[in-house]
Amino acid sequence: MMRHGGCLCGSVRFQTAGEPVRVAVCHCRYCQLRSGSAFGITVVFPTTCIEIKSGSFDTYTYQTENDTNLKIKRCTECGTSIFWELDAERFKGMTATAGGTYDPPMPWTEVDVEFFTRSKAPFCLINAEKSFAESPQYKPVISVDGRLDGS
Ligand SMILES: [Zn+2]
Ligand SMILES: [Zn+2]
Repeated sequence: MMRHGGCLCGSVRFQTAGEPVRVAVCHCRYCQLRSGSAFGITVVFPTTCIEIKSGSFDTYTYQTENDTNLKIKRCTECGTSIFWELDAERFKGMTATAGGTYDPPMPWTEVDVEFFTRSKAPFCLINAEKSFAESPQYKPVISVDGRLDGS
């Protein structure tokens, strides 16, 4: 199935082909800060299934507690974060797309997995198949300040 999406100002437009590898809701502090909301919706596709139709991006890279680089790609015009990539073996060839950037009606009726419920907002009732207090890959090696600490 082809799905279409884009940023707030409309200059970035993209489409995805096929079905996502995973639809996850993530309550980690990074996703909260990136989105400015209670959680991020991470829809993962093989990078080759994503086609950028228009717009330009800047990339913000930061080092996670796991000592991996996360690269967030944002519209250069309006700053909407659209894609992100994690510099880790298991994420090779994969791109995460922001679930809320898809054209309505919201194409995700179900969520496969929920991560970092330890910092979940109390009003969130998400009915995911699987749920983790952190994530199975979470092995912090870098300490962060209280602002980013969701424990
Ligand atoms: Zn934009
Ligand atoms: Zn997250």
